[in-house]
Amino acid sequence: MNVYKAEYIWIDGTQPTPLLRSKTKIVPADEAPPIWGFDGSSTNQAPGNASDCVLKPVYVVPDPIRGGEDKLVLCEVLLTDLTPHPTNTRALCVEVAEKYAGFESWFGMEQEYTFFEGATPLGWPRAGYPGPQGPYYCGIGANAAYGRDIVEAHMEACLAAGLAYSGLNAEVMPGQWEFQIGPVGPVEVGDQMTVARWLLKRIAEDSGVDVSFDPKPVKGDWNGAGCHTNFSTNAMREGYDAIIAACEALGERAALHIENYGFEIALRLTGLHETCSYKEFKYGVSDRGASVRIPWQVAQDKKGYIEDRRPNANCDPYTVARLITETVCSQA
Ligand code: ADP
Ligand code: MN
Ligand code: MN
Ligand code: MN
Repeated sequence: MNVYKAEYIWIDGTQPTPLLRSKTKIVPADEAPPIWGFDGSSTNQAPGNASDCVLKPVYVVPDPIRGGEDKLVLCEVLLTDLTPHPTNTRALCVEVAEKYAGFESWFGMEQEYTFFEGATPLGWPRAGYPGPQGPYYCGIGANAAYGRDIVEAHMEACLAAGLAYSGLNAEVMPGQWEFQIGPVGPVEVGDQMTVARWLLKRIAEDSGVDVSFDPKPVKGDWNGAGCHTNFSTNAMREGYDAIIAACEALGERAALHIENYGFEIALRLTGLHETCSYKEFKYGVSDRGASVRIPWQVAQDKKGYIEDRRPNANCDPYTVARLITETVCSQA
């Protein structure tokens, strides 16, 4: 039969942190994936007596898991009058991206995450703790790196899907890893991060492993999980004044950003473990205890990009990209 499998992916309405959902549609080979629907009463997106929500395809890539002509179809969620659903943060990001298109904003996001086997981070003893943090960041060996087979399969899948996947590393807490997407535009970074998160969950599922984006998966003296967001405009890529102006602009709206950078951000931004307290805002060259870091290479070249270190691993990438674009470009 001349068909392909389309995996429709969307962001649900679960509070405080939305979940990813997906389902499969068989589509005739010569057709683009059409508008589709789902039961919003099962995803916290609609009441049972008016349960239909609409899936509008917005970003289609080859499906690296099924292969062949099969596709991953990222969707926006719409109401049945075809306006954006209240949970649709992508639509707001598109508006802001269009308004400030002249700034040519680029984003690179560093997604940290933690593998879990049941209630325990992958590689941890069932009871008690592994050895203290130290050897795990960029670590190598069976006593330092847990889950590398999943990490490698995820990288291959992201590249085969055509994402701007730019690197990976093992993190400070054992069982925790990071991948990076970018640099790409504000809507593109949200789309690609969402597909990359879905691929990670889906690939880990085959090993009986779950992926947590919890910003503080283990309490105590263990690093949290963030989503550092690197950002530049055309002016920042050309001169240092625009770099400093962007840092100052972010400082003007620090509270608004903190409120929208992911649930339970105060548990992670304590001022310890390479973070700046959520109550403070500061920026600095090479400073991993700052809210916003100017990389040393950028200070030397007098141009480049800045790193907003505040977003949580569980942040909404569309919201983060929208706020940074709006805050920096409206004050430039
Ligand atoms: P870190 O040293 O903080 O761990 P990473 O290497 O993990 O940094 O991530 C750096 C990110 O910065 C990458 O995702 C990359 O795509 C992004 N990046 C590089 N140049 C730019 C730029 N000009 N504008 C925005 N992002 C950029
Ligand atoms: Mn990094
Ligand atoms: Mn990291
Ligand atoms: Mn970083």
